[in-house]
Amino acid sequence: MAKYTEASCRLCRREGTKLYLKGDRCYSEKCAFARKGYPPGLHGRSRRQKVSEYGLQLREKQKTRRIYGVLEKQFRRYFKEADRRKGVTGETLLQILESRLDNIVFRMGLARSRAEARQLIRHGHFAVNNRKVDIPSYLTKPGDEISVREGSKSRSFFKEIAEWGTAQGIAAWLEVDREKLSGKVLRLPLREELDVPISEHLIVELYSR
Ligand code: SF4
Repeated sequence: MAKYTEASCRLCRREGTKLYLKGDRCYSEKCAFARKGYPPGLHGRSRRQKVSEYGLQLREKQKTRRIYGVLEKQFRRYFKEADRRKGVTGETLLQILESRLDNIVFRMGLARSRAEARQLIRHGHFAVNNRKVDIPSYLTKPGDEISVREGSKSRSFFKEIAEWGTAQGIAAWLEVDREKLSGKVLRLPLREELDVPISEHLIVELYSR
């Protein structure tokens, strides 16, 4: 299966913003972007480029893909789906990305990062509406109940997670029962409830060329 292999912190430095790819570390003083907020590479500190409009749109799309850990082909499919649905395309695109099971598990605080959530899901530790789901890109809907499977709850990781408070807090559109290691998707998120540093209109402009 294709996946990103580049070091997470390098991606943040390249995009010029924190992408929050490493869980708690991103909120601490150990964050590489907080310490070295310039692009990676030999000339990273001195590099000054004039970026075209197209370049800006492209970077925004890449940044969004990296935040959610989505590959190009799948991202394009999400955009097509967002474009097809009623509503504001950019906001709908973000709602689709937020509905992914790996994102929901992360937002519920049942994993410390989206990457960790993906791994846990692939290993079969999660269920949606009491049925095992091991596909991180599974799209949840309002009303869906997400839970750690019974057989996985005794694992030390989930015991720790039950006591762990997420640094980013729990989103208002989700409900979480930390003791039961489960939660519910209450509704789709509103744009203003999403803390992602994304200018989605640039992505819409890119795909509308
Ligand atoms: Fe990005 Fe900082 Fe997290 Fe590394 S620690 S992934 S630089 S936000």
